[in-house]
Amino acid sequence: MPETDCIMCRGAEADGELDRTEIWQDAHWRLTFSLSSEVLGFSYLEPKRHISHIHALDGDEAKTFGPALARSTKALKEATGAEVVYVYIFGDGVPHLHLHLAPHRAGDALNDQMIKGEIVEEKLPNGMTRFYSPEFPALPREDLQETAERVKGLLNP
Ligand SMILES: [Zn+2]
Repeated sequence: MPETDCIMCRGAEADGELDRTEIWQDAHWRLTFSLSSEVLGFSYLEPKRHISHIHALDGDEAKTFGPALARSTKALKEATGAEVVYVYIFGDGVPHLHLHLAPHRAGDALNDQMIKGEIVEEKLPNGMTRFYSPEFPALPREDLQETAERVKGLLNP
């Protein structure tokens, strides 16, 4: 997608069309607040430069990503009284990196599950809870181990 066709590259000019308002920016990032949401404080953090996806994050935006995310989520949590702020990055919609920041409060509209289907909770001996869907059973262990090794190789050449 050429950047000229990218709605997020239009910055503040597109905020009206996207029904959101800018609440913070710095040299590399913009934080906008949705004005049509079922979730109080639902916001978007995105780089000003056209970076298509999280896997393409590099340069100054990669260096400043953590501080921008920490600063944004802290303010959203405080302003909304949320218990936590969920952070979602999808990437299969608009191909300009954008993080969905969703302050979560008990009883709100947010889904706290990462997988589809009926969710089963299993208490593990270590006290943690495993959530899984019988519709999507665990993949073969050897496939998981093989891919883990491939990623390990890429990260530790
Ligand atoms: Zn863009």
